[in-house]
Amino acid sequence: MEDFIQVFPRIAFRINMRYFVIAGMTFLIFYVFFKKKYKKDKIQTLFPGISDYKREVFFSLISMTIFAGIATLVFTVFRPYTELYPKISDYGWSYYVFSIVLMVFVHDFYFYWTHRIMHHPLLYRHVHLVHHKSTNPSPWTAYAFHPIEAIVEAGILLVIAFLVPAHFSAILLFFLLQIIYNVYGHLGFELYPKNTHKHPIGKWLNTSVSHNQHHQFFEGNYGLYFTIWDRLMGTLRTDYDEQFESVTNYEKKSDV
Ligand SMILES: [Zn+2]
Ligand SMILES: [Zn+2]
Repeated sequence: MEDFIQVFPRIAFRINMRYFVIAGMTFLIFYVFFKKKYKKDKIQTLFPGISDYKREVFFSLISMTIFAGIATLVFTVFRPYTELYPKISDYGWSYYVFSIVLMVFVHDFYFYWTHRIMHHPLLYRHVHLVHHKSTNPSPWTAYAFHPIEAIVEAGILLVIAFLVPAHFSAILLFFLLQIIYNVYGHLGFELYPKNTHKHPIGKWLNTSVSHNQHHQFFEGNYGLYFTIWDRLMGTLRTDYDEQFESVTNYEKKSDV
């Protein structure tokens, strides 16, 4: 218990910092300083209102407290039972890199299926709706979850800690990647280049356009990092390609 009390504030601070720095920086760039310049490239023409940002940050703060609580349990109370290892040399550098890639793929699988379960009408109405209140997402939407959904989201750390041998710093890097991709998914602007959706590798990457469509239309495009599961399960929206093309057709837009 003493450990928990000592470790919790450090972890909570780290999670909050990551969210506020990454979401905050992208928000300042795309929604404040260069708003006029990038306006024509916005996936949905309108910008969310102040009340949307407030709601998103409010729920994100609750989610981050829950994430910190579960992460602290994993790194203190549960630690002896986990697969976490103390020295990088225990498994070597190639495994270190591989473990991060593995975590991303495991997370993508975990997110896709838990997200689909969240769309069951009962869970959707009482839990997942909080996230879907943002029909026009912004960087602040990244952690805007109902507390129950925040617990489910934090479950990925339990899955990783108990299944994937991982070094503490590899887990930190994985969570850094996760928040970057999560903020990108809710950014409201596409960063991948034109034709990514047709490229042999690019077509398997989940994009901001894809997740934006999920928020706008509530159905389809359930993935996080990749479109693998959406493509395999036939849940990728049929209008995805068309939308990606129209959003990334920057030359045509600059003529208007
Ligand atoms: Zn959803
Ligand atoms: Zn979302």
